[in-house]
Amino acid sequence: MADIIDGKEFAAKVRAQVAEHVAKLKSEHDITPGLAVVLVGEDPASQVYVRNKGKQTVECGMASFEHKLDASTDQATLMGIIEKLNADPAVHGILCQLPLPKHLDEEAVINAILPEKDVDGFHISNVGLLATGQKSMVPCTPLGCLMMLREQHGSLSGMNAVVMGRSNIVGKPMAQLLLRDSCTVTIAHSRTKDIEAVCREADILVAAVGRPEMITGEWVKPGATVIDVGINRIDAPEKGEGKTRLVGDVEFSSASEVAGAITPVPGGVGPMTIACLLANTLTACCRSNRLPEPEGLTA
Ligand code: NDP
Repeated sequence: MADIIDGKEFAAKVRAQVAEHVAKLKSEHDITPGLAVVLVGEDPASQVYVRNKGKQTVECGMASFEHKLDASTDQATLMGIIEKLNADPAVHGILCQLPLPKHLDEEAVINAILPEKDVDGFHISNVGLLATGQKSMVPCTPLGCLMMLREQHGSLSGMNAVVMGRSNIVGKPMAQLLLRDSCTVTIAHSRTKDIEAVCREADILVAAVGRPEMITGEWVKPGATVIDVGINRIDAPEKGEGKTRLVGDVEFSSASEVAGAITPVPGGVGPMTIACLLANTLTACCRSNRLPEPEGLTA
């Protein structure tokens, strides 16, 4: 049976580290890191995420600024808010909750955020910096996965890593980070041939496909570390009519029989994502004030 990598516990540790560093910034430099979150529309899942982000930001001693905008907000109004936040010295991190309503140009909004305040790491400058191995803001979910892998293995050098999924927010940055840590990286996607065999070569398998329980134990190399990024809601008639439950992209029951270590869903990668958002805000604040960055909280 695999070791269970407890993302909830790890995220609490990261948040405690962030809080400790924030307290020091306040007492020694009179600086309070601030995170601004912009939410457009009433998507229920996004509302929950934004509420959690705000709550955890304040719990870490940082300032939280929330901008909740009507679903009909136009591009110019949204760009105006981003501009104001870019210019606000109390705001060190800006996050625009995605997806945006269809009439808005997501790319333009992301690239309007100052790269040094782009705590999501989606700005084209940060993407380029990461790809060329330079200091950047790193997307939160892959950063959380990397932290868990480093904690599990120490050095990742020379390991075979397979990343399933090539999205801009998870798959591609994950692959860049693993390459930077000297893994031999394969990116698999919907056109990959004999994907099962590709996965079986992986010492590290990161699943980010958004397909409920697609990866079974037969896909996993014995002893491999499996990081399950997927969050999928499926029907759960066993819990009662109309009930649902969350599952990952990995079939936990069979994969945990074969893997050396595995993240559960829920309680794995999910909690690490918000913890890394807080870590990124702290990093952005330290960089903008030319102060030393917190150790172990960046890539
Ligand atoms: P996307 O839908 O943007 O990307 C999915 C990727 O998986 C694509 O590259 C796609 O390939 C690939 N894929 C889809 N089906 C298959 C298949 N049958 N075989 C092989 N590859 C396949 O998803 P995201 O990257 O945004 O998210 C992935 C999962 O991670 C989702 O479940 C999402 O909810 C979750 N997630 C979790 C987060 C967390 O905090 N834990 C944060 C972000 C996402 P192709 O490019 O060829 O179409």
